[in-house]
Amino acid sequence: PRQFFVGGNFKMNGTIKSITDIVHHLNSAPLDPKTEVIIAPPTLFLLLVREHLRKEIEVAAQNVFDRGNGAYTGEISAEQLRDSGVGWTLVGHSERRVVLGEGDEFIASKTKAALDGGLGVILCVGETLEQRESNQTISIVTSQLSAVASKITTTSWSKIVIAYEPVWAIGTGKVATSEQAQEVHKAIRGWLGEKIGEGVAEETRIIYGGSVSEKNCRELAGEGDIDGFLVGGASLKPAFVDIINARQ
Ligand code: 13P
Repeated sequence: PRQFFVGGNFKMNGTIKSITDIVHHLNSAPLDPKTEVIIAPPTLFLLLVREHLRKEIEVAAQNVFDRGNGAYTGEISAEQLRDSGVGWTLVGHSERRVVLGEGDEFIASKTKAALDGGLGVILCVGETLEQRESNQTISIVTSQLSAVASKITTTSWSKIVIAYEPVWAIGTGKVATSEQAQEVHKAIRGWLGEKIGEGVAEETRIIYGGSVSEKNCRELAGEGDIDGFLVGGASLKPAFVDIINARQ
């Protein structure tokens, strides 16, 4: 059985005060010990969070550059993240794909750099509404994954968690139905089995993101191929604890 995995992506939100409050709340909350929990605060707060957060919860960056230390103004390397006690990074979030114009190749290259630098990767994929409406969901998601697969080794998939985040469900309050999410998760697992290997398909966590709340998380968590969540807005609220504990 795959360990349930819940990530909180704070995006570009929070102040020293509000993030400290979230850390204190998580530190005193009853968390299901069977669930792996990770939070991704803005880069500026990574050290603060790592210092004060209970050690069972891991910390992730929201982004990483695809090169080693050097003359890359404004960027952060995998090595620097590791040095700061950060064990994970998100890569390929749709806000970076859409707002910052990051393409599949760059995202694949960042994934490789993160893995080579010893980080775990939460690799985000997902289709836009237009792509869903023209029946391209599975082809978009698998081509996003293929770009990564062509750059990494089979064994490194054990350090990847795939986050399926339909762009139309992110921050919209329009959550995918559990059937819609399960269908894509199942297709991703099928793709992993066919292209990478049955063992990788069986072991890789595929988590869902997009308007996950304390209200809809239990139903989604009941689906066979949904192994957890990547939570945006709700991860900033006390209700995040209910989502962490969603698996019955
Ligand atoms: P929301 O939960 O706010 O819809 O954001 C989802 C997301 O993008 C997590 O990475």
